[in-house]
Amino acid sequence: MTWSILGAGSLGCLWAARLSRAGLPVRLLLRDRQRLNAYRALGGVTLIEDGRESLYPIPAETAAQGAPIQRLLLACKAYDAESAAASVAARLAPGAELILLQNGLGSQQAVSAHLPRARCLYASSTEGAFRESDFRVVFAGFGQTWLGDEHGGPAPGWLAELEQAGIPAQWSENILERLWRKLALNCAINPLTVLHQCRNGELAGHPDEVAALCDELGQLLHACNYSAAAQELQGDVERVIAATAANFSSMYQDVAQGRRSEIAYLLGHACREGDRLHLALPRLRAVHERLRAYLVARGLPDT
Ligand code: NAP
Repeated sequence: MTWSILGAGSLGCLWAARLSRAGLPVRLLLRDRQRLNAYRALGGVTLIEDGRESLYPIPAETAAQGAPIQRLLLACKAYDAESAAASVAARLAPGAELILLQNGLGSQQAVSAHLPRARCLYASSTEGAFRESDFRVVFAGFGQTWLGDEHGGPAPGWLAELEQAGIPAQWSENILERLWRKLALNCAINPLTVLHQCRNGELAGHPDEVAALCDELGQLLHACNYSAAAQELQGDVERVIAATAANFSSMYQDVAQGRRSEIAYLLGHACREGDRLHLALPRLRAVHERLRAYLVARGLPDT
């Protein structure tokens, strides 16, 4: 069965290139004819690994036209997920499967609410890739991708295809807990790196702020019934800060490059859940407001 990939950016091209070189059928779905022409002019996806580059002439078409879609990897940013999914909704075959690769939470539920006849699987990935230019992607960090179904059900047989393609993937029986844990780690680190304009490691110099956020994120996770995700949160946050000391967080990089951030699906989602559960979370809300003001002052969307 063909892998259709909507969102030919960093992770979308990384998955497409690996599926293609494993001999698996894959096609890219591009926004419009202009993007399709630009892609065709380049002759395919270029993946750069360890400084070596390879060109993969993966077939592509526009999102609007083509054969019915049975299996779709949605690899755009969280704020684009709903409109991107809507652009292919009419092409989805009955019982189609979607893999939603977005970071944070909120976009997955929005997409699946619009597509009740499809099976929407959520993914949480720690792999790293970035776009050097259009359809030219650098593989930047080994990691793992967990996949799961919020509504239960069996692991899909095509996980073996991911293994065949060298895409490290594992089935998770509690994908929401994994996504919440990653959201909490992101919320404790990324906003502070933007507000302090620093690398991850420099947050070791702000231990009280980090501890206060971890405490409130822990309260939120408990209240959401994800107590396992709250365990050892501060210890893990401190370990990530130490292990990635020289790195700039993804949110820092988005803001530094004048790109929209996924704030609404990270800190925004945490604060919305706090509202729903009537939790005070004063430190988390204060950081959210400071970050929004920081983005607005730089002409960037604060949602
Ligand atoms: P990205 O490089 O910005 O790529 C997103 C792609 O989606 C772009 O090519 C964009 O097209 C495309 N797109 C958006 N709306 C579309 C539409 N309506 N129709 C067709 N294409 C559309 O993003 P990314 O870094 O791969 O991130 C994807 C998700 O994975 C994010 O939630 C991110 O947080 C998460 N993630 C990323 C990494 C990483 O290392 N990159 C790691 C873990 C998790 P245009 O180029 O035309 O705008």
